[in-house]
Amino acid sequence: MYIPYGHQSINEADIQAVVEVLKSDFLTTGPKIEEFEQKVADYIGVNYAVAIANGTAALHAACYAAGISERDEVITSPITFAASANCILYCKARPVFADVDKETYNIDPEDIERKITNKTKAIIPVDFTGQPCDLDRILEIARKHNLIIIEDAAHALGASYKGKKIGSISDMTIFSFHPVKHITTGEGGMIVTNDQKLYEKLKLFRTHGITREESYLLHGREWKSQERMEEKEQKEEKSLKEKWKRDPKDYQGPWYYEQLELGYNYRITDMQCALGISQMDRLGIFIERRKKLVKQYNKAFSDCADIVIPKQLNYTESSWHLYVIQILNYNRREIFEKLREAGIGVNVHYIPVYTFPYYQRIGYQNVYCKNAEELYKHFISLPLYPDLTDKQQSYIIDTLKSLLK
Ligand SMILES: *Cc1c(COP(=O)(O)O)cnc(C)c1O
Repeated sequence: MYIPYGHQSINEADIQAVVEVLKSDFLTTGPKIEEFEQKVADYIGVNYAVAIANGTAALHAACYAAGISERDEVITSPITFAASANCILYCKARPVFADVDKETYNIDPEDIERKITNKTKAIIPVDFTGQPCDLDRILEIARKHNLIIIEDAAHALGASYKGKKIGSISDMTIFSFHPVKHITTGEGGMIVTNDQKLYEKLKLFRTHGITREESYLLHGREWKSQERMEEKEQKEEKSLKEKWKRDPKDYQGPWYYEQLELGYNYRITDMQCALGISQMDRLGIFIERRKKLVKQYNKAFSDCADIVIPKQLNYTESSWHLYVIQILNYNRREIFEKLREAGIGVNVHYIPVYTFPYYQRIGYQNVYCKNAEELYKHFISLPLYPDLTDKQQSYIIDTLKSLLK
């Protein structure tokens, strides 16, 4: 028996949803994509959602839409998956690491403010383990310095901050649907926003920067959807066909499309979105189960002086992607290895990103985030996923406690 640290939960309805798409006309860009986007947008209470190939592509697209480019700096957390910083490098900008708070393990707003320079363009806060960052404070800093917030909520689908759903607060928020996350599409991701201009950029970026939408073609190289066009412009050119009728020499033919930007092929498929739609139906159940397991872990460890359980602020409601504890007074590696030997798939989230050889090679040798490095020495993630049984959890708890005697 091996208990992984995270695992998807797939039922018969999920399987049927994917099989139906396989029997339909569309395997990739079909009706399931918009349906999935709408379902997530409605759940969060946000105007726009763009489903995309994976969470990393979502971060890349968001950085692009934010206009991040050469000579810009973007502030993020070192206690995260590498993608939160790599997306900045994809846009040729420079990641700057602000330290995390000792208690919540989330990026420390005060250190964000210390790291701001006249090159800073955006902040990528990460809702680590599913607990939202101090978004009010980060928002305040962002407004003061005119910065864009791209929230990496890969851990935080279904979480909330001061009663507001994660995804409805920042300029753009990204999610991942990798199998260990709250819901899965195999690979998959999404960006949500209330800003129509950003939405349009994100959509173009997903498909090579190519469009055949009339509203784009009419007004050439500018991003403008029909709704945002001035009334005058709308009167001038009601449709591409009219324009071409009046100006037949411009008429190329009904195949016409244009590439307006340098985008990528970051499409998600209808098969994946059908799975996502079906998974969304159980998101509430998934989160409830995760919360119950966390409660049980917390209770079991409340009398252990050698374990620090994850601290939660009373105005945040985590959706609990990870259960991360600190091991004190013992050698973390030894405990980790013994748990693995016992068939328990513990993990460590995360190695501070700037310590990786690649980052060391590109100028991060002198970066030091004290809290991140201290915490990293003690972190262990225990298994947490909806299908983890109470019996398995008891085994994990008993095994760990017996090692700390
Ligand atoms: C999973 C994850 C991502 C990337 O998501 P993928 O879908 O695997 O590309 C980004 N940031 C964080 C914090 C993650 O945990």
